Amino acid sequence: MVEQLAMHGGRPVRAQLLPYGRQTIDDDDIAAMSAILRSGWLTTGPTVGEFERVFADFVGTREAVAVSNGTAALHACTYALGIGPGDEVIVPAMTFAATANCIVYQGGKPVFADVHPDTLLIDPIDVEKKITPRTRAIIAVDYAGQPCNYDALLDLAASRNLTLVADACHALGAEFKGKQAGAIARLSTFSFHPVKHIATGEGGMITTDDSDLAQKMRTFRNHGITTDHRKRERMGTWAYEMVDLGYNYRITDIQCALGISQLKKLPRWVTRRREIARTYQERFANHPAVLPLKVDPAGVHAYHLFVVRLVPGRLKADRREVFSALRAEGIGVQVHYIPVHLHPYYQSRFGTGPGLCPNAETAYEQILSLPIFPSMTDADVYDVVRAVHKVTQAYAH
Ligand SMILES: *Cc1c(COP(=O)(O)O)cnc(C)c1O
Repeated sequence: MVEQLAMHGGRPVRAQLLPYGRQTIDDDDIAAMSAILRSGWLTTGPTVGEFERVFADFVGTREAVAVSNGTAALHACTYALGIGPGDEVIVPAMTFAATANCIVYQGGKPVFADVHPDTLLIDPIDVEKKITPRTRAIIAVDYAGQPCNYDALLDLAASRNLTLVADACHALGAEFKGKQAGAIARLSTFSFHPVKHIATGEGGMITTDDSDLAQKMRTFRNHGITTDHRKRERMGTWAYEMVDLGYNYRITDIQCALGISQLKKLPRWVTRRREIARTYQERFANHPAVLPLKVDPAGVHAYHLFVVRLVPGRLKADRREVFSALRAEGIGVQVHYIPVHLHPYYQSRFGTGPGLCPNAETAYEQILSLPIFPSMTDADVYDVVRAVHKVTQAYAH
């Protein structure tokens, strides 16, 4: 017996929508923020540096630079690398727009590389094809929380004299060959938006071993203003100099207090994400129409997202209809992402369009992100499994 879909008037699996991701805020997080509010510091105080230190220690880099959000972190990278007009930077087509936008902010040109169809991670073979004499850098994205093929990407960057940046906004807690995400590329970026692994409301971080780049980014986040101590002594204590055009990309002490408190719980949360992913993997292992993305054993996945593909020809409905049916069942599925080169801005400004990255374009028609976040209960996970089975059975041939 096929159950009647909620979309068609049947009883939904869940009365209230289960989101695809959400933050976990405990009493200790609230206590940490209250303490800061009473301390007298609101914006840049000692807690920014403290968050940077604990974050750098966790990732295993010399430096961490905290900024106002993950997009600002990416912009700080393209700035610090001196990307400018005439420069090309290669990015995957399957990512959030910010990965490419940060190149355009600096006047550079994003060049879109296709992704591997099994993992939706940037394909190093296509990256190599897209390199020109103007290429300066590659920004790799650890899509869904799975580390990219860094062996190939690091070799390619080294042999072609390019800088490798990791947009690790999905990958806090992931590992590649014994290294934490954030400690693999020359520069790595993180976001602390509420759907990401740890939340500060808005927030971002860049990790690197390069102290010169870190210094540049610290100036950049503060309007391009330096407060060199020797100069300050010479000129009087009020003195500061604006040495380049920067932005106000500062993060507050309040947010950093939350970040420090959240980071302590990250290992536990990533473990829970992996548990949920394992349940999905088991439950969909033999499903004829639902195919989870492939996991490469070279990396340790942090599962920001759990993405499945709908196998073409197996259902009497397309992704759009399955998406709506699951939403009606109370399951907050999402689609990550519309390939960046298909956005109207990129099509009109850079002449990109369909056909440029066929694997990303095909995947985009088939993918769904299922809910995954640490505070999901086992009952929540089984609701998702049940709803997916219910909907796919209703649309089976
Ligand atoms: C979230 C995210 C960003 C941007 O982070 P914000 O903090 O929202 O600015 C950039 N790249 C990827 C891959 C992301 O998922």
